[in-house]
Amino acid sequence: MGINGETGILGILGYPVRYSLSPGMHNAALQHLGQNLVYVAFPVAAADLAGAIAGFGVAESLVGLNVTIPHKEQIIPHLGALDERAQQVGAVNTIRRQGRGWVGTNTDVAGFLAPLAGRVPPPAVTVLGCGGAARAVVVGCREWGCGAIRVVGRDRQKLSAFQHAFPIVQTWDWAELSQILPETHLLVNTTPVGMGAPGQTPLTAAEVDLLPQGATVYDLIYKPRPTPLLHLAAARGLGTLDGLSMLLHQGAIALEYWLGVPAPVDVMHHALIEQLAGKDAL
Ligand code: NAP
Repeated sequence: MGINGETGILGILGYPVRYSLSPGMHNAALQHLGQNLVYVAFPVAAADLAGAIAGFGVAESLVGLNVTIPHKEQIIPHLGALDERAQQVGAVNTIRRQGRGWVGTNTDVAGFLAPLAGRVPPPAVTVLGCGGAARAVVVGCREWGCGAIRVVGRDRQKLSAFQHAFPIVQTWDWAELSQILPETHLLVNTTPVGMGAPGQTPLTAAEVDLLPQGATVYDLIYKPRPTPLLHLAAARGLGTLDGLSMLLHQGAIALEYWLGVPAPVDVMHHALIEQLAGKDAL
């Protein structure tokens, strides 16, 4: 469908967003569904968030947005309402129009849980990092029925704030990792370490060796594939999951939230794989 005066706009709000795979994934879905909508990136710096949200509110063609780093928590005071899920997580990754304002939800929890469906919840989970994604992971682990949930961070103040928001978790310093890794059945990396300079991993090979046989390592990063952490985990014979399925499912659920129709998950998955292979998704 061509763009015309009635074309609606969806997009991703973050900074930077230039490397996001979401525009390719969502535009493939919108074309497949024959919707008169386009999905574009909105690079908005943290200091400009309030102005951007106010502007988006009065531009009637804007239907909804995904929200990513660094706005997932900071956007909350600028929204008219939060659904129950966003309130539980304390972070928003999707908003949709309500009048001239916006309602926020969080589809990261369901996205995180999607590749774990049908598995038995582990007795002990260790979550590396205590940012916005870690919040969704903790809510997901709690809902799934995991036992002990340990959150590891490098900033004591941020860890205390996290514990305050989620009293069921135990918080640990990075330096204490060797104490908890031998009892970790699921390790989730929510830090961005491994995305940037080649060879960087959140855990050393020696630390990965401390995980018990049968443990699963879930890295929310999906590029490169495998991530450096998952490379180490696979070399040890551990189970591995990367973040591509989470990206796909959080996106599919967001699309359903905006449009009210089932998302074409296979089309979206194909668009992600094409982009990771360096090809255009459309
Ligand atoms: P965030 O709010 O910025 O949190 C990142 C966390 O990682 C913070 O606790 C941060 O600690 C920690 N961290 C950063 N660099 C570190 C380092 N060098 N060593 C140790 N800890 C470090 O970001 P987020 O929204 O949670 O996202 C985190 C990652 O998850 C990103 O890579 C993102 O792409 C990925 N993610 C993937 C999906 C998906 O669909 N697959 C969805 C959401 C997020 P400080 O606060 O001390 O800096």
